[in-house]
Amino acid sequence: MPRPTEERPAGQPWPTYPMIYRVSSAHEELDNRMFSVSTEEFLGDGNGNLRALKIVETKFENGKFEAVPGTEQEIPADFVFLAMGFTGPEKTALIEQLEVELDERGNIKRGLDYQSSQDGIFVAGDAGRGQSLIVWAIAEGRSAAAEVDKYLTGDTQLPAPILPTARPMMV
Ligand SMILES: Cc1cc2nc3c(=O)[nH]c(=O)nc-3n(C[C@H](O)[C@H](O)[C@H](O)COP(=O)(O)OP(=O)(O)OC[C@H]3O[C@@H](n4cnc5c(N)ncnc54)[C@H](O)[C@@H]3O)c2cc1C
Repeated sequence: MPRPTEERPAGQPWPTYPMIYRVSSAHEELDNRMFSVSTEEFLGDGNGNLRALKIVETKFENGKFEAVPGTEQEIPADFVFLAMGFTGPEKTALIEQLEVELDERGNIKRGLDYQSSQDGIFVAGDAGRGQSLIVWAIAEGRSAAAEVDKYLTGDTQLPAPILPTARPMMV
């Protein structure tokens, strides 16, 4: 991601949580943060040990981050901690066996009724929405339950607080 601005961006008005440049005590200890870069490769020393990271600058284009050619550089490293976020539901076993379709982000594709590409299989929460928050999972769970009720009985009195397409408030 690019370095955030110091001030709240115009597109993130109150009460949204603004993406601004923040400095924690850990950052202050060693202020060497890099922005708009992506790790391309771990480079070895030929003896099975890590020697460096190969990184490249990125820019956001056509809806995704793309590498800027000619900006590759190496960062010497002998140890790496992977701090990975949610990378989508596991693609093994359950998803394979159910043969449900995935969306372009690797989450389980669903319709407005929370139903996956397979009749009678519903998906709510992170598996369909992608990495999110507990409140969304709860709201989706309740809404999906209403859709399941409708699917089974033809009608429902259950609350359906949100559609699967609902997103946090943004301008
Ligand atoms: C490190 C971390 C910190 C977070 N911190 C916060 C926070 O502070 N506040 C916040 O709001 N959100 C936070 N989140 C996000 C929040 O945890 C998720 O958005 C939420 O738990 C999603 O709920 P869910 O029911 O969709 O999925 P999950 O809570 O992931 O539940 C899915 C369940 O399905 C089970 N499962 C998977 N495969 C199978 C299978 N084949 N058979 C049977 N069971 C299976 C899993 O074991 C799991 O129990 C955090 C997430 C992470 C990873």
